[in-house]
Amino acid sequence: MALPLLRDLVQAADLKARKSLGQNFLFDLNLTSKIARAGTPFANTVIEIGPGPGGLTRSLLLEGAKEVIAVEKDRRVIGFLEHLVKAADGHLSVIEADALAEPVWELGTAPRQIIANLPYNIATTLLLQWLEHAPSFASFILMFQKEVAMRIIANPGDAAYGRLSIITQWRAEAEAIFDIPPEAFIPPPKITSTVVRLIPRAKPLADCEPADLEAVTAIAFGQRRKMLRASFKAYGGADFIEAAGLEPSSRPQEVPIEGFCALARLYHEHQKER
Ligand code: SAM
Repeated sequence: MALPLLRDLVQAADLKARKSLGQNFLFDLNLTSKIARAGTPFANTVIEIGPGPGGLTRSLLLEGAKEVIAVEKDRRVIGFLEHLVKAADGHLSVIEADALAEPVWELGTAPRQIIANLPYNIATTLLLQWLEHAPSFASFILMFQKEVAMRIIANPGDAAYGRLSIITQWRAEAEAIFDIPPEAFIPPPKITSTVVRLIPRAKPLADCEPADLEAVTAIAFGQRRKMLRASFKAYGGADFIEAAGLEPSSRPQEVPIEGFCALARLYHEHQKER
């Protein structure tokens, strides 16, 4: 695949980054290839959200992805990427769509992967939506703001441990793989970025309904500094917490995911009895 330099193409096409679409582009092939390689061996279908000018897309193809499906909201980009679609000779298709409304878990053939430098403003919404379809995916290699990545991978006791850590890790194993400094992007964002690898679990870490887990983590972390017995006063306080096998004086940051699942199961029963 012999292609002109991406920077030159972007300049010639006057493809200026738009803040409203979270556009911070990566032109350094070494970096985009490092991200792509984090997803190898590739699954049958690699889905890229927000290809932009196509730096990471090029790397996915160069690293050997057989089917790349790129989903992009910016119509300007769809035309711009035509050169790459041609050069990729059947290995790349680009869909114009809003990723928030696109059932990407149905694209291509399983096993699927999502590898993407996500627009920061919708990154966690997208992740949570995809995790509801976790069994459709073999893995996710995703770039987040470092602060968000730290919340995703945090363990009980860590300052960043909270709802995002619990709801994510309930369904997937998560690890941070490397950071990317602001100056690697055009235009540079104000923050450092972190690439995270998520591998969906065959089944969630412990039994409970997702809506109940969301509800109990919202109650517990809505008052982060309070003991669980105080936050769950309306549900029976200390008795409720003890029935879940937890210490009533514990605070939410100390409780492992399995503990929140036990609370979620009790919460479910409590709601039924109401
Ligand atoms: N992958 C490119 C790179 O690494 O240089 C661009 C990454 S840029 C951070 C985010 C990309 O997501 C942009 O191309 C932007 O147009 C696209 N985007 C923003 N919102 C989107 C949405 N709702 N659905 C699909 N793509 C979106």
